Amino acid sequence: MSTSKKDKDLVWHPFTHLRSENENICIDRAEGSYYYDEKGTRYIDAISSWWVNLHGHSHPYINSKVAEQLGKFEHTMFSGFTHKPAVDLAERLLKHLPKNQSKIFYSDNGSTAVEVALKMALQYWDNKGESKPLFIAFENAYHGDTFGGMSVGERNVFNNAFEQLLFDVVHVPLPNADNISEIEKQLQDLFKNHSVAGFIFEPLVQGAAGMVMYEAQYLDRLISICNKHKVITIADEVMTGFGRTGKFFASDYLQNKPDIICLSKGLTGGYLPLGVTGCAQFIYDAFVSDDKKKTFFHGHSYTGNPISCTAALASMDLMEEKRTWIGIDRIIKKHELFLSKNASHKAIKSIRQTGTILAIELKTDEHTHYLNNASEKITEHFLKHGILIRPLGNVFYVLPPYCINFGDLDFIYTRIEELLNSK
Ligand SMILES: *Cc1c(COP(=O)(O)O)cnc(C)c1O
Repeated sequence: MSTSKKDKDLVWHPFTHLRSENENICIDRAEGSYYYDEKGTRYIDAISSWWVNLHGHSHPYINSKVAEQLGKFEHTMFSGFTHKPAVDLAERLLKHLPKNQSKIFYSDNGSTAVEVALKMALQYWDNKGESKPLFIAFENAYHGDTFGGMSVGERNVFNNAFEQLLFDVVHVPLPNADNISEIEKQLQDLFKNHSVAGFIFEPLVQGAAGMVMYEAQYLDRLISICNKHKVITIADEVMTGFGRTGKFFASDYLQNKPDIICLSKGLTGGYLPLGVTGCAQFIYDAFVSDDKKKTFFHGHSYTGNPISCTAALASMDLMEEKRTWIGIDRIIKKHELFLSKNASHKAIKSIRQTGTILAIELKTDEHTHYLNNASEKITEHFLKHGILIRPLGNVFYVLPPYCINFGDLDFIYTRIEELLNSK
């Protein structure tokens, strides 16, 4: 029996409609920007393994660094103990994060990085003797699948079943030239009339919403108001970090730097689970006290796992190499060309780009939505041509590993044009 068939009997997969007739594709090996399934079929990974991979699969350098660490030790508790990979990684991340960042808190994934950020903000106020229970977030936000993450996220099909237990959050529209003054006023009113702990946002690109993009200048204006009212700002850079938007972090496009930054996905180059919540010194200082009750009581068994940290350090080495940025720039320029060529295609409702992310929203008879039925047809079209693209409803995107070559990018664009012209 093939592994794919056995899988259907035994395994429950995430975000997967259980009535779907399709078997899951069983990946046997991967190298660079290619996957190979158990039958030997090759697929170009056009979405960086669910947005996590940066430098390609089975990268020899990251492999060797991880193997080296495996020869030393695999795990230690991270309370009362520390290790060089975790300390070196903190130093390395702080070198690249905005200058206001000064401490690194480790966890396991993007959702926990957000969960930690929310708890940090809430306890920051609690430790100062103030009760500030309200968070502000953007409409259509996605911040992970834990209860805190779901609460600050948009209320939608992802969390309908849990809605009663999600805590109150005010969702404001994404800012643009037309509505920015109105949203500024809305924030000022909220800050005047409510006890607001923090404002959380995905800077520049809302990934799960369908790669929805907005401009840094408007986010800057909202952060500025938060700063004036001492509302903690939290950048969820779980998807946008590590070169995705064309700079090291999306926050690098901002004048006003967030107080807390969440990282995961690309952090380990797409190798191993790891989450980071970075914070400014003033947040940390509120937890430094003779009173033991002011301790931040949060931790995970695998906090700061040394193998994950080693993969992240190796990925940082590669991020600091010139050729990685040449790869990033090349993708950006190729995307730009494709976009300008197809900007007014009749099958397209919207085509947009931020850095290495190119998103296409197809015109369909249905609304733009995660459950839009165009999704299956899009997936099938690309799979048939050996390309792995996973749409968000009628929106699909190319978000490739930085090592992808010209020929493969052109091949993907041609297959996209085929899909557009068939409509
Ligand atoms: C993916 C994602 C998360 C959740 O990360 P997981 O590692 O999947 O838990 C949170 N925020 C954003 C912006 C994301 O894209």
